[in-house]
Amino acid sequence: MDDQFSTFVYTKHENKLAVGKIIDIGNGKLTVEILNSMCAVEVNYNEVYPTEADQEKDVDDHCALMYLNEATLLQNCKRRYQRKLIYTYLAHILVSVNPYEVITDLYSLDNIRKYKNKSLGVLPPHVFAIADKAHRDMRRLNCSQAIVISGESGAGKTESQKHILRFYCENFGQLVIIEQRILEANPILEAFGNAKTTRNSNSSRFGKFFDVCGGFVEHYLLEKSRIISSNPKERNYHIFYYLLASQELHDDLHIYGDVQNFQYLKSGDSLSDEDIMNFKKQLENLIQALDRIGFSSKQRNDIFKVIAGILHLGNVNFEETKVNARGCEISNVSEQSLDYAAELLGLDSDELSINLTTRIMTTTKRGGGTVYSICLKPSEAENSKNSLTKAIYSRLFDEIVAAINRSIPFGDSVNYIGILDIAGFEYFEVNSFEQFCINYANEKMQHFFNERILKSEQQIYSEDSLEVGQVLYSDNLDCIELFESTNGLLNILDEESRLPKPTHNHFTETVHARLKNHPRLLIPRKSARKENRSLRDSDGFVVRHYADEVTYQSAQFLGKNHDTLHDSLFNLMHHTSNDLLKSLFTSNENSMPNKPSSTNLFKSRSVSHKFRSQLDLLLKKLRETQTHFVRCFKPNQDQVLENFEEFFVLKQLNAAGMPSVLSLMQAGYPSRLVFNELYAKYKPYISEIKELQRLDPRIFCQCLFKSLGFNDCDYKFGLTKVFFRAGKFAAFDQLLKQDQ
Ligand code: ADP
Ligand code: MG
Repeated sequence: MDDQFSTFVYTKHENKLAVGKIIDIGNGKLTVEILNSMCAVEVNYNEVYPTEADQEKDVDDHCALMYLNEATLLQNCKRRYQRKLIYTYLAHILVSVNPYEVITDLYSLDNIRKYKNKSLGVLPPHVFAIADKAHRDMRRLNCSQAIVISGESGAGKTESQKHILRFYCENFGQLVIIEQRILEANPILEAFGNAKTTRNSNSSRFGKFFDVCGGFVEHYLLEKSRIISSNPKERNYHIFYYLLASQELHDDLHIYGDVQNFQYLKSGDSLSDEDIMNFKKQLENLIQALDRIGFSSKQRNDIFKVIAGILHLGNVNFEETKVNARGCEISNVSEQSLDYAAELLGLDSDELSINLTTRIMTTTKRGGGTVYSICLKPSEAENSKNSLTKAIYSRLFDEIVAAINRSIPFGDSVNYIGILDIAGFEYFEVNSFEQFCINYANEKMQHFFNERILKSEQQIYSEDSLEVGQVLYSDNLDCIELFESTNGLLNILDEESRLPKPTHNHFTETVHARLKNHPRLLIPRKSARKENRSLRDSDGFVVRHYADEVTYQSAQFLGKNHDTLHDSLFNLMHHTSNDLLKSLFTSNENSMPNKPSSTNLFKSRSVSHKFRSQLDLLLKKLRETQTHFVRCFKPNQDQVLENFEEFFVLKQLNAAGMPSVLSLMQAGYPSRLVFNELYAKYKPYISEIKELQRLDPRIFCQCLFKSLGFNDCDYKFGLTKVFFRAGKFAAFDQLLKQDQ
């Protein structure tokens, strides 16, 4: 039967995945006749994916299909998506496709209750089922759980996280108020950590990990560059616009007019009347939420002043001074902005001005150095101003998260359920340091995913003493090594920062020189990618990630990696009369200990170094849990409903590492059932054969399969379970039920 089916394949035809029949096998090529069309195409062997003939069938668990490959997964998800079934399982992994519309009743209270305490697979696939499984497993196995939600920006990660929280809140919320508090924290996190991007109008620009039993939020890598400018059609963090939209605060904060009046906002998208209405409403929600987590109205006003202060500071410009050949001064037109910034940040404007335009240095000599001040060039002053605003904002964000944590009652559960919402693999036309970090994180996450899914799969077989040949899958350890080894990218970057005169050209040349033979690294010109023709060797490097090749432009790597405040500005922050702001600068947490604070050369930990340690801690934590995976996908790039762009989704399936899971499943036995369960489930169907019913469950199953004429290679008996080849369990189930 298989042979007859397997002549059907999916292949690319006129930019779609079309079903066809193999009609000829040639030397290195196949000829495929496209169904319902008169044409035949010649394709390579690796461009066809076997499929069943039935083009209408969709299944809850993808493993129930005969052929498990990217194309059948894609088509199964597509058909379900068209039927408004956005969730599909791939064994225990949940695949979710963003519907871009509210699907009636999908997240109703009724549904929340229905999914409580049900085994996976009893009800249609749902993110609630994963949430419930994690909760049940925590109790049953007495082990902490993690739900890892991944996908590219706009795929629905944050929404999934919120649905999981609501599920816990509604089902178990009477007992703990932790989930309630975490849910309440969302408007706050979103106001300060989310922004409009071309991919998602409410995009979270940081990774987060909610511990829903211990009551703790951890955050990773807030995108700082967004604070000082955004791309056209994108925006800065929501909070800036909330303040801009609200008239009541205008006089206190000196904020008037629209985005055009503010340097940090004007490169981004402007506001429509509707936006203004929305932001006003969201500001009200934010104020309530801040109130609930325990910010006093004075503290809240301090926060707003700091945010407005950042906007005004952004408007401060510098020009060459007329008296001093090297230095700079604040331009006449921005004196008003300087005064506003000083007022709102609780500083003296002369002091602010001096510290923005000069920098205190100390020569390091034994017996005490000499302190002297150097004047900054306009561009240097601009840079240090921007690092000040970025430092203020990111420290404020840290403090807000800390306050949220303080407000959540500390859970006494020994085990926890952690929900991780972290940006997936990214690649744009121009990729900089942010993508470099995110993609490095994704290599690590991918490795963890492989380890968990692929290795645990093999473990399941060996625990049941089942002989299944080792399945080869693509390992990405060499790519992680490219980043992390002594001579790897991260170290080269930090080394460059420690040089007296670091430059991105020298950094790039070092990368090329030391890593040119690494299989995961390419030099741009050699890769000759179309979109990067203008890129010269010295501009960057290409990493061959597990998901795709990405060209990184190294021009801003050094600045972004060494994003610390020089000491004059750090010390200035101690003089503020804004209590909140002062509390943010009690310690220069980027500094290395045991160094005099007046020497400001290269003592800080780099951004990438911090990120790497955070990531290591996160993975250590994840390794101690049992992990559940939710993979989110976007159906199209336009954020619209009912449009499923096949190749766009296919690319994401690859980026999510699905092909190796699929080949593992196809080669193995992805459906399995414990003998006792199978016995209990199917006993009623064969009530007429009393002898069979009396048998021991294991022997019962063996006899049953023989009597149904099942092929030996379709299933295997382990010690406790029976394992089915892909699709065979579904066939068995159908056969028995049909016989009734
Ligand atoms: P991500 O966190 O992955 O960047 P979000 O979770 O913010 O993406 O989702 C982006 C947008 O997509 C949401 O604002 C919402 O409009 C829509 N969306 C996501 N998931 C769903 C869902 N399950 N049902 C309806 N709309 C959704
Ligand atoms: Mg998000």
